[in-house]
Amino acid sequence: MPFYDLYCAVCDKEFNIMATMADKTDQRIPCPECGSTKVETVYNAAPAYVKRNTNNPECPKSNVCADMCPHMPEGQTRFL
Ligand SMILES: [Zn+2]
Repeated sequence: MPFYDLYCAVCDKEFNIMATMADKTDQRIPCPECGSTKVETVYNAAPAYVKRNTNNPECPKSNVCADMCPHMPEGQTRFL
């Protein structure tokens, strides 16, 4: 089973947890702190201003379009 970096919106904590892909997709992974399933995936612990220049292999112009990159996978735009 893969590990996931998740963030709990209730207790404002990040945690790393092992879960099945199905559990992840169905949002059945509970926060180890409070048990809430209001968790979201953390793609990168780096702050948004660092992420600006991250090279997205999908996007040939990632250094130009940065956060506005239309090629960014959904979910990575949460820092906008
Ligand atoms: Zn929690």
